[in-house]
Amino acid sequence: MTKQITMTINGREVDLFSRLDVIDPATGEVFGSVPNAGAPELNSAVKAAREAFPAWRDTSWENRQAILIRMGDVIAASAAELIGLLTKEQGKPTAQAEFEIMSASQWCHATATLKLDDKVLEDSATRLHFTTYEPIGVVCAISPWNFPFILSIFKIAPALIAGNTMVLKPSPFTPMTVLRLGELLRDVVPAGVLNIISGDDALGPMMTMHAGFDKISFTGSTATGKKVMEGAAKDLKRLTLELGGNDAAIVFPDVDIKQTAEMVFWSAFTNSGQVCIASKRAYIHEDIYDEMRDALVTVAESTPMGRGDQEGIALGPINNERQRRTVKALIQASEDAGDTVIRASRPAGAGYFEPITFIDNPHDDRPIVTEEQFGPVLPLLKFSSEDEVVRRANNSDMGLAATVWTKDEALALRVASRLETGNVWINEALALSPFAAFGGRKQSGLGVENGIEGLRQYTEPKTVSFVRK
Ligand code: NAD
Repeated sequence: MTKQITMTINGREVDLFSRLDVIDPATGEVFGSVPNAGAPELNSAVKAAREAFPAWRDTSWENRQAILIRMGDVIAASAAELIGLLTKEQGKPTAQAEFEIMSASQWCHATATLKLDDKVLEDSATRLHFTTYEPIGVVCAISPWNFPFILSIFKIAPALIAGNTMVLKPSPFTPMTVLRLGELLRDVVPAGVLNIISGDDALGPMMTMHAGFDKISFTGSTATGKKVMEGAAKDLKRLTLELGGNDAAIVFPDVDIKQTAEMVFWSAFTNSGQVCIASKRAYIHEDIYDEMRDALVTVAESTPMGRGDQEGIALGPINNERQRRTVKALIQASEDAGDTVIRASRPAGAGYFEPITFIDNPHDDRPIVTEEQFGPVLPLLKFSSEDEVVRRANNSDMGLAATVWTKDEALALRVASRLETGNVWINEALALSPFAAFGGRKQSGLGVENGIEGLRQYTEPKTVSFVRK
C-alpha cells in the first residue's frame, strides 16, 4: 500500500473518508485509493480558484514565469517518485514514464518562455489603438488516463502563466501522479491558484455544468467531449477540446522497409497503442505490403511486453478493463467477419495484457478501421495510388493527425496538404513540441494546445482605442 495521497484545495491538503480504488493494470489488483470528491469539495475548489484569481491575474508576467520555472524544477527534482507512481497506476514501462515526467518538466520551462505581447494597431499623434490579451478567469481542466501527467501540464502551464486559476481533475483510472503534483506544488503556487481534486464518473459532469468556471479545457474521448460541450453551452464557457483520433499512417513503396517498419510499429504501439496520435490505420502500398506486414510482425515478436517496472520491458498492459473490452470487441468483430488476425505476441501476465495484434487487410467498413481502438491492435490496409489513399485516409469523422512515410519530398508535402488533419508527421511520429500548435480537425477537437496559439486559448483579446487630445 502506498501512502495516502490527498487533494489540494486552496493550497491545503483535503482528504475524505469516501475513497476511490486505484488498480495496478499490470496485476488487475487494487493498490491504493484516492479521495472521491463530490459537490462540497468541488464548490470549495471553485470558490478558492475564484478568490485567488484577481491577485494572480495582477501578478506580473515575470513572477508567474518564475513560478512556472520552479514548477518544472520541482517536477524534475521529484522525478523518481513520480515515475514510480505513474508506472504503477498507468502501466507504462519505466523509461516511458520517465520520458513523460521529464517532458512535463521541460514543458513548464518552455511554456515559461512564451509571451503574448500586445498588438499595436496604431500609435500615432492622434491615436493609440491596440489589442491586449487578458486571462479568462477560472479554468476547469479534465484529463485522461493515457498520459495523465503531461496532458495535465499541457493545461496547467499555459493557463497559469496567462494569469488564470484552475481546478483540475485527473482520470479516476490514473489520479495519483497528478494529485501528488498538487501536493508538491503547495509551497510553489499561491493558495487557490491550482486546485487538484479527484472523483468518480459523477465529478466530471458536475464540473462542466458548474457556473463558477469561465473556461473548460478537456482532453478525452470524442463521445465525452460532446457532453462537455453541452456543459459549456449552459453559460457559454470558453472551450478547448482535445479528443479522439483515428490516425492514418501512409507508407509509400520507396521506403527502407526494415527501418520504416520499426518506426511505424512505434507510431502505433507506443504506450501499447494508448496514444491519441498513435497510428490507428496503416495504409501500405501494394508493392511492399507483404514485406512490410512481415517486418512489422517481426518487430512485434521481438518487443518485450510485461510489468512496466521490470527491466527491459518496452510495452505494458492496457490501462483498464473498460478499454480492454473495447479493444477485444473490435478484434472479435474482425475475426467474426473472417479477417486474418495476426497475434504477434503473447499476453504477458495476469493484468490487463493483450498481445500485439495486426488485422491483415480488412475491409474499410470494419469497426477496427472506422473506430478508434486505443490499444495494441493495428489494421494493415493495402492501397495502390495516391488519390485512393488520400480519399480513404480522409474518409473519417476524426482528423487528429497522420503520418506519411516516403523519401519523395514533393509527394509527401502534397499528401500532407491534402490530409484533413491538424497534424502531419513525415518520416517521424508522435513528435509534439511545446512551441507547436497541436489540435484536431473534425470530431477530433476544437482549438489547440501548446505554442503561442495554445497560450492564446487561455486569454480573451481586448481591443482598446485611445484618441489623443
Ligand atoms: P474519457 O472521455 O472517458 O475520459 C476523459 C476524462 O473525462 C476523464 O477524466 C473522465 O473522468 C472525464 N469524464 C468522463 N465523463 C465525463 C463527462 N460526462 N463530463 C466531463 N468529464 C467526464 O477518455 P479516456 O478514456 O480517459 O481517454 C481516452 C480518449 O482520450 C481517447 O479517445 C484518446 O484519443 C483521447 N485523447 C485525446 C488526446 C488529444 O490530445 N487529442 C490526448 C489523449 C487522449
